[in-house]
Amino acid sequence: AWQVVLGQLQMEMSKAAFDTWVKNAELVGWNDNCFTIGVRNAYARDWLENRLTSTVTRLLSGLMESPQRVEFIVWHKEAPLEASPNAPAFAPANGRNDAPQPRTVIPRYRFENFVVGASNRLAHAACLAVAENPARAYNPLFIYGGVGLGKTHLLHAIGNATLERGLHVLYVSAEDFTNDLINAIRTHTTTAFRERYRNIDVLLIDDIQFIANKESTQEEFFHTFNTLYGQEKQLVISSDRPPKAMMTLEERLRSRFEWGLTVDIQPPDLETRVAILRSKAERAGREVPVEILYTIARQIQSNIRELEGALTRVLAYADLSGRPLSPALVEIALADLIPQRSQIDPGQVVNAVAQVFGISRERLLSRERSREVALPRQVAMYLLREEANVSFPQIGEVLGGRDHTTVLYACEKVADMIERDDYLRRRVSQVREALYGRSMAG
Ligand code: ADP
Ligand code: MG
Repeated sequence: AWQVVLGQLQMEMSKAAFDTWVKNAELVGWNDNCFTIGVRNAYARDWLENRLTSTVTRLLSGLMESPQRVEFIVWHKEAPLEASPNAPAFAPANGRNDAPQPRTVIPRYRFENFVVGASNRLAHAACLAVAENPARAYNPLFIYGGVGLGKTHLLHAIGNATLERGLHVLYVSAEDFTNDLINAIRTHTTTAFRERYRNIDVLLIDDIQFIANKESTQEEFFHTFNTLYGQEKQLVISSDRPPKAMMTLEERLRSRFEWGLTVDIQPPDLETRVAILRSKAERAGREVPVEILYTIARQIQSNIRELEGALTRVLAYADLSGRPLSPALVEIALADLIPQRSQIDPGQVVNAVAQVFGISRERLLSRERSREVALPRQVAMYLLREEANVSFPQIGEVLGGRDHTTVLYACEKVADMIERDDYLRRRVSQVREALYGRSMAG
């Protein structure tokens, strides 16, 4: 039964979260309808307890056809553990579960399996042009768009195409770039660092927004950019927002990002979502009726990664239960389990922030400017964006009719403060716990 639960969780969770927290959890005992799950360390125990107790209980009870309980304990195998590789050195700073991308070009992300629709046509065409004519078509190419819309896929597609033509290609997330730089400074190897980043033909740098508030990284990247650009090497940059919306980005970098071509990717329309599902089902060698593809595509609207996850889930549900694929089965398969970001309701976020900071919902939503209310309100803005996927203008509307730039500024400020302010970090994680605890119990 525990293996089945693991299988379910694996389909539901991001790979990074699953690998970090769940993969090594083992069943170590069962009696009195209580499953005892052993994990390697206290972080993992707390994480699992807080987020997965109700989900796991429900799954186990369903499988055993009787009420079950679950407890998580810290447990070491007889064999001495090597410096536990699974103990996270730090929690992801932004609380996101996006799988960290490897630092090399991923072979499976190709132009051939990128489905083109109205929402991404321009970005796709620009990437193709760059892959065919590096440094001659558009340089730099700057791609922006929301989470899970295919930016990373396109970067790697350029990487694969240019690698095949014998070029030196480096794919790196802005976060890795930052960590590399920090390490290089610490170990006095900045020369090697510069060589690595400058002796290439194509630099693909993902999620550049990460360096927007990091001055020394920006400084270094500025020089990397200039060197590569000066030698007519191709730069491709992705971001979750356009250059002009990166409030804390140095002007000289912002203007450079706009030297070439800037393209956006929008959330896919229904037809494109269906086409993506169809292509994915074909690749998996599965026949899925069009009606089913539409049912899934109607439910998952704004994130292609979630769309893929939903299909996997539906297919697994059909296999595990032995029932035929039907719209009803899709409903069941997608109904519960771990809440996706988009399933968090904005009202819940506002309530949770009000509760954690101990101020009333009315004051939070008002135009009052005192400091006592201002910070919680900024936190609410930040979390509406991060956890509920609400757009900046909408957040402004919900929170006392503020304009889009005020909201943007608040989100950047909170993201920045969380890095250095323990009090704020704790409060924000309390809000997250309130959100996830509640929606999983429900
Ligand atoms: P982003 O970097 O914008 O957050 P990703 O590139 O990681 O998004 O895409 C998320 C998932 O969706 C990946 O598995 C990717 O292969 C898939 N995907 C995104 N866009 C498309 C598309 N147009 N066709 C096929 N798969 C896509
Ligand atoms: Mg990405």
